[in-house]
Amino acid sequence: MTTLPRLVAFDLDDTLAPSKSPLDPAMAELLVRLLDTVEVCIISGGQISQFRSQVIENLTDASPEALSHLHLMPTCGTQYYLYQNEAWNQIYAENLTEDEKARALEVVERVARSLGYWESETWGPILEDRGSQITFSALGQAAPVSAKTAWDTTGEKKNALREAVQAELPDLEVRSGGSTSVDITRQGIDKAYGMNKLAELTGIPLDDMIFVGDRLDPAGNDYPVKAMGVKCVAVEGWHDTAAYLEKLIPELRAAAAAR
Ligand SMILES: [Mg+2]
Repeated sequence: MTTLPRLVAFDLDDTLAPSKSPLDPAMAELLVRLLDTVEVCIISGGQISQFRSQVIENLTDASPEALSHLHLMPTCGTQYYLYQNEAWNQIYAENLTEDEKARALEVVERVARSLGYWESETWGPILEDRGSQITFSALGQAAPVSAKTAWDTTGEKKNALREAVQAELPDLEVRSGGSTSVDITRQGIDKAYGMNKLAELTGIPLDDMIFVGDRLDPAGNDYPVKAMGVKCVAVEGWHDTAAYLEKLIPELRAAAAAR
């Protein structure tokens, strides 16, 4: 018999819900059932507003008791939210310093302009201060997928920008984000960082956790969790995750009943 996890952690986009979209009601129901039996974490590179619109607003059937078992880790665990006193409270945020932010904003704009990537027609602001992360989105945060795809079909522009910005910010980490975006954070911030924080905060060892993600391939943003040795379940979308939970939840319930 395989040992059952005490905590199940999930990536958000394309694992619990389609990218930038709300949870399907079927997935919301499964999560509520899962929260009855184990601790649950959602960890993503996205910010809390994305967790609110994709997850929280769609968990309306969850009791305060169930929600108290849900751990939210936006921006790869540099922020941490828990449900306490009937509200989602930020427990901590490891933000960039004002100096780090100012340098990141200045360098990325200057380099983007010099490479000819500073677009004048955009959907929302190009630069965004996410507290623990500065994000450059070539066409703005709200650009339609078709425009984003057309902007940089080969990934060449994004990579050129990433490399040039990294060269000027050696103390920070500059990564490719979405299809037109580049993220600037402290060094060493990825989902493995967040999972280590989670083990520290909950007292649950990594060995007693399972992580579910859609990008566990070596180039994917979930890969650092696999590389650190956490048990992982690879999915190709929320339907796969739902199928996995349909099996896991009865096993967890049976184990709880036997205790
Ligand atoms: Mg994903």
